Amino acid sequence: MPSKELLDPCVDCRDVEAILTLRRRRLCKDCYIKFVSHKVFKRMEKYRLNRGLAKDTPCKLLFPFSYGLSSSVLLHMLHRQLETQHAKTHGTPGFDLHALIIEPSTISPSNPQHNEGFELAQKSFPLCSFTQVPFHSIFDLVPDIKETMSQFAGQGFVDNPSLSDAERLNAFRSCIPTSTSKADVDQILMNRLVVAFAKKIDCQTVIWGDSDSRLAAKTLASVAKGRGSSVIWQVSDGMSPFGLEFNFPLRDLFTAELRDYASFFPELISLIVPDEPRSENTLTKNLSIDELMMRYVLTQGEKYPGVMLNVTRTANKLDVSQMPSNVSHCTFCGAPLMNELGSRQSQFCYACARSRPSTSS
Ligand SMILES: [Zn+2]
Ligand SMILES: [Zn+2]
Repeated sequence: MPSKELLDPCVDCRDVEAILTLRRRRLCKDCYIKFVSHKVFKRMEKYRLNRGLAKDTPCKLLFPFSYGLSSSVLLHMLHRQLETQHAKTHGTPGFDLHALIIEPSTISPSNPQHNEGFELAQKSFPLCSFTQVPFHSIFDLVPDIKETMSQFAGQGFVDNPSLSDAERLNAFRSCIPTSTSKADVDQILMNRLVVAFAKKIDCQTVIWGDSDSRLAAKTLASVAKGRGSSVIWQVSDGMSPFGLEFNFPLRDLFTAELRDYASFFPELISLIVPDEPRSENTLTKNLSIDELMMRYVLTQGEKYPGVMLNVTRTANKLDVSQMPSNVSHCTFCGAPLMNELGSRQSQFCYACARSRPSTSS
């Protein structure tokens, strides 16, 4: 149909009416999906084409999946890439995707168990494999974490081996004083669990589902929490201090764009557990810095998307290979320890030390 007969033709295909605006361009549904998926497709090139990787076996990727908007959309996009990869009889072996779910109700009792989500994910994405573990499986996956936790908590916490693993983990978490420190410590523990699981099943890379908005919030929060030195591997693609590569293929997409993408696929809508509604009445002082920054990025990011993009692009220019390699690492979070002149080397980095029960205020 010639475009002049359309009221609001899609600027890409010019064949059909546009239904939404993407970065000031009016697009139809198909062209929207194509544009957004292509951003991720390009970011996955290295693994799709096995660049610098073994050519005879697929590259094994670990994908932490939380039932949140971002990781659900990324799973959907990566599964479509796997379908294309499997349809080809020749070509590179590409990648294998293994999704790891930390069972949400074991992270917070206010989270639903979402067992139907686990079944739905397996049914909707048959080319991926899925594992679900409770948060306290960190004790099995990271055997020395119990000792590290005791050292970290100091006198404020006495580990009781007669309790179940779930109770022991909760006892440790509840001795962390502020909401910012709690969020920080949980993030570190989950990160260590994911890394340990990836190594256990021989994955070389972890694919994280953070959107551009999330990465911008993480960058700002990391600096505020004194974790500036770990911004590098928390938001940029490349080698992490854990001997695994970290990759963030959603880095060019905003939360609002992921929301529009998800709205086109009913299976995604039933899979996603929406974030708890952000009540405007929640006292700011009760929010962690991470939550505050996410709220800031989501409200300001809609007004000034370029600013947020700039934050993450700048952070992604930090070069992991420029990090000193012969330094010791924080026992808790794994960040390189910077020697401070005149001070005795601590086993914890500055930011972790601030989250400890005895030292934080
Ligand atoms: Zn179109
Ligand atoms: Zn640390």
